Amino acid sequence: MLYAGCHLSSAGGYAAMGRTALSIGANTFQFFTRNPRGGRARAFDPADAQALNDLRRAHGFGPIVAHAPYTINPCSKEPRTREFARETMADDLKRLEFLDGCYYNFHPGSHVGQGVKAGIAAIAAALDEVLEPAGKTVVLLETMAGKGTEVGGRLEELRDILDAAARTERLGVCVDTCHVSDAGYDILGDLDGFLAEFDRVIGLSRMRALHLNDSKNLPGSRKDRHACLGEGTLGLETFRRIVNHPALRGLPMVLETPNELPGYAAEIAMLRGFSE
Ligand code: FE
Ligand code: FE
Ligand code: ZN
Repeated sequence: MLYAGCHLSSAGGYAAMGRTALSIGANTFQFFTRNPRGGRARAFDPADAQALNDLRRAHGFGPIVAHAPYTINPCSKEPRTREFARETMADDLKRLEFLDGCYYNFHPGSHVGQGVKAGIAAIAAALDEVLEPAGKTVVLLETMAGKGTEVGGRLEELRDILDAAARTERLGVCVDTCHVSDAGYDILGDLDGFLAEFDRVIGLSRMRALHLNDSKNLPGSRKDRHACLGEGTLGLETFRRIVNHPALRGLPMVLETPNELPGYAAEIAMLRGFSE
């Protein structure tokens, strides 16, 4: 089953996102838990969450992805910034318990000069604090482009976070194709090699979702600028291979390309056309 979708605005609530997804041929999607650049969450409506669960079940949706705001940094050197990240994540996770089969994806953060080791320790400590024992939401670390002091540009860094966290069974990884290419992994020339490397370092079973984005920059550029599929340095063939790769079957594949809904609909249709 190909679970293909895109990032959607959450402004109209949960069920509205489900209806929008249906209207563009998607059977998964991603949304921000709150304004990506601000802090406040919208008012929470459990009935709306249930309506989305019902819609997804009726239409055979795959897992969906809730994305934490960009502004949180659980490995900041400022204690107050770290605390804000933990509060935000804990609050998001409380709400997400009302959604069935929802991943919570976040950017591991930037260590801003403390060094990657201290960053990894701080991220693992934040996860230990926010993961309630009774919770069911699986939290995903996103692979990063490695710009500045970003943690998560190397698979080894993500593995070290997974290893350091206490509730590692509640954690997974979301692979962003633009980010891994910008970080220097050659998914254009050698997708199998990248997946073998991922399996060796982290384990393929921990890969739970993908962000499908072409990249405006060359592999290893450490830039993080998304392009529409086929309009960047990865090219359509890379995405054809991803959609058909047996190791990636059944994972939700979410577009974060610079598109409005009609552009997303066209890219989703193209992915479905690739699927053999
Ligand atoms: Fe992201
Ligand atoms: Fe992403
Ligand atoms: Zn990005």
